[in-house]
Amino acid sequence: MYFTVLTLFPEMFSALLAGGIIKRSVESHRISIETIDIRDFSTDHHHTVDDRPYGGGCGMVMKPEPLAGAIRHARGKHPGANTILLTPQGRLFDHGVARELAECTELILVCGRYEGVDERISSDLVDEELSIGDYVLTGGELAAMVVIDAVSRLLPGTLGNINSAQEDSFSTGMLKNPQYTRPRVFEGVEVPEVLLSGNHEAIRQWRRQTSLIQTFLKRGDLLLDQPLTSGDIEFLHKLHQDIETIIEKHSTTS
Ligand code: SAM
Repeated sequence: MYFTVLTLFPEMFSALLAGGIIKRSVESHRISIETIDIRDFSTDHHHTVDDRPYGGGCGMVMKPEPLAGAIRHARGKHPGANTILLTPQGRLFDHGVARELAECTELILVCGRYEGVDERISSDLVDEELSIGDYVLTGGELAAMVVIDAVSRLLPGTLGNINSAQEDSFSTGMLKNPQYTRPRVFEGVEVPEVLLSGNHEAIRQWRRQTSLIQTFLKRGDLLLDQPLTSGDIEFLHKLHQDIETIIEKHSTTS
């Protein structure tokens, strides 16, 4: 996968390349991350990239000419690439979008700064706008890094264990089950007995059920759209009955 990032701050991306899975993926040529400095495409000798907004108002707007030049340059190198503008006004980036993007072979990520980019860039020169959340960052660089990181780990071979991404939160439509490692007892709290049992079916069932509980408690909304198995429904019924029994018991005694 080729990521081309258009930015006024190419040096920020050295953080992404400094270690971990992304660094390894670049070294093993599973992904490539190229940054292009938008300022190199400014059209005046002061290398201006921003200007005051028409109609007045605070802040500066990124001028269209350098952005258009940088986008056309990147598209010339990667004609099949999807061009994405990072903006708080875009489609919300989530696991489903990351999966869609992981199907692409080339992505061009355009990072805004200041008060954003001239509207003629967003309307005419990008294929899609993406937001990483309902808050406003000072620039699109961190958003682009989030997209690169989340998409890269879904690519075949990027993670050591192919099952890691498949079992992650959201991949299954639910949150991942709780996880434990050594020591067996930490500050008086023991690892659940079933995980030490060696009984693979019991462990699978415990993971599924704790994933259901975890999802219900933290992100109940996810369960509404999640296809559940008959075993899941049976487990939820049992929980429901147990909760009703507890409530009944307490309402008769209080
Ligand atoms: N004035 C713009 C608005 O209200 O929509 C916000 C501009 S923001 C200060 C500067 C740049 O940061 C944006 O052009 C965009 O590239 C990036 N940015 C800020 N928040 C973002 C978010 N939630 N997702 C993706 N990019 C974001």
